[in-house]
Amino acid sequence: MDEMQHLFLEALKAHIDALEASSKALQTQDPDALNSIRRIAHTLKGSGGTVGFPEISAAAAELEEAEDEQIPPRLESFLTLLHQVTIDDEHRFGILIIEDDPLASRILQVRLAANNREIFAAETGAQAEEILQNEEIDLILLDLILPDTDGRNLLTKLRARPDMAGLPVIVVSIKGSRAAKTECFALGADEYFEKPIDTEILATAVAAKLKRSGEIARESRTDPLTGLANRAAFAEAFQRAQSLATRSRDRLSLAILDLDRFKSINDTYGHMMGDEVLRRIRPVTDEALRKTDFVARWGGEEFVVLFPKADTRGAARGLEKALEAFRREKFQVEGRTVSQVTFSAGVTEVSEQASVEESVAEADRLLYMAKEGGRNQILTQETEIPSKGKKVLLAEDDDIVASVVKHRMGREGFEVIHFPDGITALKGAVETDVSLAILDVKMPGMDGFELLGKLRKMPSYKTIPIVMLTSMGSEKDIVRGFELGADDYIMKPFSPVELVARLRRLIKEPVPSEHQGGPKILLVDDDPVILMTATKSLEKTGDFQVLQAHNAGEAIERARQEHPNVILTDLFLPDKDGTALLDQLLYDDTLSNIPVIFLTAKTDPSLVAELVSHGAKGVISKPFDPLKLPDQLKEILNKEKT
Ligand code: GH3
Ligand code: MG
Ligand code: MG
Ligand code: MG
Repeated sequence: MDEMQHLFLEALKAHIDALEASSKALQTQDPDALNSIRRIAHTLKGSGGTVGFPEISAAAAELEEAEDEQIPPRLESFLTLLHQVTIDDEHRFGILIIEDDPLASRILQVRLAANNREIFAAETGAQAEEILQNEEIDLILLDLILPDTDGRNLLTKLRARPDMAGLPVIVVSIKGSRAAKTECFALGADEYFEKPIDTEILATAVAAKLKRSGEIARESRTDPLTGLANRAAFAEAFQRAQSLATRSRDRLSLAILDLDRFKSINDTYGHMMGDEVLRRIRPVTDEALRKTDFVARWGGEEFVVLFPKADTRGAARGLEKALEAFRREKFQVEGRTVSQVTFSAGVTEVSEQASVEESVAEADRLLYMAKEGGRNQILTQETEIPSKGKKVLLAEDDDIVASVVKHRMGREGFEVIHFPDGITALKGAVETDVSLAILDVKMPGMDGFELLGKLRKMPSYKTIPIVMLTSMGSEKDIVRGFELGADDYIMKPFSPVELVARLRRLIKEPVPSEHQGGPKILLVDDDPVILMTATKSLEKTGDFQVLQAHNAGEAIERARQEHPNVILTDLFLPDKDGTALLDQLLYDDTLSNIPVIFLTAKTDPSLVAELVSHGAKGVISKPFDPLKLPDQLKEILNKEKT
């Protein structure tokens, strides 16, 4: 977070106080309340966007423009958002004024009041002790003469308690002997003011003491290497986030992440390199996660993150982004470079009663499985739930690849039956029914294509999804595989996360031709002429229902609302290109099973291969023949599996 953002957050606290006051005033029908709420919203609309809090800016704009009746509910959710943003930066100081003269006490209370201070008043030593017991106090103003005790006794008691030994105490007393003053300092008073006091000087002394203890508090809450919050600060943020989530009935997720094979970085390149890698967690997560997500160093090479207003899927998506960015980072120390560093993570939802330790332990359990399953991945409770009893046939001669697939698919609830070559796989296939097959292309004896051809002739393998594993850059393989009835290709080397996303997509894929009223097609193109001709051509046969979108953003929006059976899209859209659109669909759980077909003038084999490797179902070339388009589409969707 930069300096501007800190300043903004400082100012935000005053705005929150003002908005909360206006919210109360609203209930008493105060006519000025609406105006002042709109005025503050207007200010925040401008400054929020400027310093990089677009979500505040957007919500402020909505609040400012809301109808009068809509102001109270909008204000409520706006305040929740603002509280959320300040969650990691909220430090309130408690001041205890121990003074038996009500008027003198009142004057001090007024003079010392401030936004980030909470002021408590006690008239007796007994009251003071009770407040100290129950409240977080950062500074004490102590009158020496009290009805039930001498202030010096209180001071002695305080200094004897280890948790209060460092608490600043300012003694206030009527003009007395030098001896009394010396005695107070000896007992551990920090300052001594004689009545009548100059409140101006007193206020300055109080501010200076609090500033210093604030600095100490901040230092003791920050991890010096990474600049992130430490474990203690995380525990506090957890409490606040949890009670906020309970109050506003929002979800709250928590993740623990651990750098992969970090010890070997230290061992190979030295500790300095290890430190450099650790330091980079903060900028990467700052960039990839939301402003309201809270990152802390849990210890060593482990970090914890709080995701307010997010379920585990949302949190995992954020971490996925961070992981991708981290993988691309290059670390340099003394002329040597390290890259491709990864981490693994476990994500869990925080329940209302869970303690920090319990939540972290649950996330840690998932982290452990992520490590077991090959590292470089993020696991949530959802990805863990097994869909039991599904068998996968795997023909693969490379043991390492086989064990990665086994682990990952095992975690998804599949039983992987592995064969080290084509011939034994074919024999095994006769004896086993599976719901999916994964075939390596290059294998000794019988290669993957031959095996594919033979499997497709067996009744129980006619319609199940079959996925080919092939090395990067072999476009010819892809064409050949599709001709033989493969459903998808996965390029080696592959990321385990992508493997699972792709396989799930195949398993969940609906068969559009069985859909009543004909499949719904979402047609995406920025060219209105294409949209019109393609729509007409597809609707003419009565076999398809057509929905339209003009860009990727609109397409995703419509897909979420209307669940089309297939997306037929232009390759270059105004806001995103085809591969980016595919990636976005693939990582969205509600959209990942929709087949995507491209309509494009660019059909060179390497481009087609790339699209397919990102999960495209097929490509139709432009200019298309309106008379043939429906059949071309059907052909891709119901690809004959013989
Ligand atoms: P895994 O993928 O299973 O997590 O393997 P790993 O090597 O990351 O795990 P392990 O727990 O064996 O090693 C963690 C290492 O992190 C050991 C420790 O020396 C190193 N480490 C912990 N804190 C720091 C630090 O502040 N700086 C540096 N440079 N290294 C640290
Ligand atoms: Mg570790
Ligand atoms: Mg590690
Ligand atoms: Mg091989």
